[in-house]
Amino acid sequence: MVKPDLTLTPQDWMHDPDLIRLFAAIREAGGEARYVGGCVRDVLLGRAVHDIDMAVTLVPEDTQRALTVAGIKSVPTGLDFGTVTAVLASRTVEMTSLRRDVETDGRRAVVAYTTDWQEDALRRDFTINALYADQDGHVFDYYQGHADIIAKRLRFVGDPDTRLQEDVLRILRFFRFHAQLGFYPLETDGLAACTRNKNLLSTLSAERVAGEVMRLLKAENPIPALTAMRDGGFLTHWLPETQNIDTLSTLIALGNDPADWILRLASLCPSNPVGVTELAERLKLSGTDRARLQALADPITAPKDEISARRYIYSVGSNAARDRARLGLAQDGNIWQILSSQAEDWQPSSFPISGKDALALGLESGPDMGRMLKDIEAHWIGSDFTLSRAALIDMLKEKIEGRS
Ligand code: ATP
Ligand code: MG
Repeated sequence: MVKPDLTLTPQDWMHDPDLIRLFAAIREAGGEARYVGGCVRDVLLGRAVHDIDMAVTLVPEDTQRALTVAGIKSVPTGLDFGTVTAVLASRTVEMTSLRRDVETDGRRAVVAYTTDWQEDALRRDFTINALYADQDGHVFDYYQGHADIIAKRLRFVGDPDTRLQEDVLRILRFFRFHAQLGFYPLETDGLAACTRNKNLLSTLSAERVAGEVMRLLKAENPIPALTAMRDGGFLTHWLPETQNIDTLSTLIALGNDPADWILRLASLCPSNPVGVTELAERLKLSGTDRARLQALADPITAPKDEISARRYIYSVGSNAARDRARLGLAQDGNIWQILSSQAEDWQPSSFPISGKDALALGLESGPDMGRMLKDIEAHWIGSDFTLSRAALIDMLKEKIEGRS
């Protein structure tokens, strides 16, 4: 049922002149655009809106043409599925043509375009994601999404089993939205449908899974969703190493940044560098994320005093040390406090002498020079970084003289 009487509380972004131009561009080409999905849902939930998606009655080629005519840059980011990205000065907006999914293989849909809003709503995953709003914020609600928002209920549009068999990523989205929106406890009917279809999860691509895992872990409280996933056997294919949900709970209680999902992921896994390398490969994580996970899985013991903490910080850098301390505090408690405090309060300085100094003293570059500098660096570290540059130069001189 459509509820044109429901209107979104005005948001700053709804007055963005770029968005107003976008609506006008579609209108001038004879089409209609509406906000859809997360941005409508999140306004109704009183949550911050982080990206804006639109649905549009034009077919993608016509959307692109309409934007070009209006002087708006567009990128055909997902032309096969009807998505054109409008690149505005203030933001990018994904504009997806109204569509019906005519055929699916569980991962990808073959689509047919339509001008029927309700048909478009029918192909969306959850009722709360099938809400639309026009430029003025009038809400169009085809499947009682607003009632579900009020009841904090995550309900599939249509028959859950059919919807999961069309696209099994929706299982992960089911857990993710429960976590992201704090809709707990989990819906029992939806969960039962997910359980019946969980064997299909292995057919997903790593990229799609990683995207959902990231969003799940970034949620304010992913614990009940993750626990249900582990207990229900939803993690055995993609995240079999998930063991320590309690460690993640502690990490969250200690106040880690929710955006820092890699630290959260690390807290779920045993400290095993080989294991996390496999995990990073399985999920096709970026080189940076992989390196962080590996550093976090480094099985070091907690430094016992400030001097050894500083040595550790010097060897791995402040950021990695801070990471390790946060994880350590969550895993084993206060024995990591010394490293944690030092990583916050103490900045490692760089080694005060370099090859340039050695060259100035007449040494030629090569393995000898490298060895000498390493030796002196070890003294400097041993002095708790207190030996002055002058003292280190003297040491270098002595070494050079001793050699000849
Ligand atoms: P957020 O951006 O906060 O993660 P969102 O609801 O906007 O949440 P997106 O992944 O950006 O989620 O997708 C936009 C909309 O597209 C969704 O609200 C939903 O209507 C639809 N959608 C996205 N992925 C699927 C899917 N796998 N199956 C069905 N509908 C989907
Ligand atoms: Mg979105």
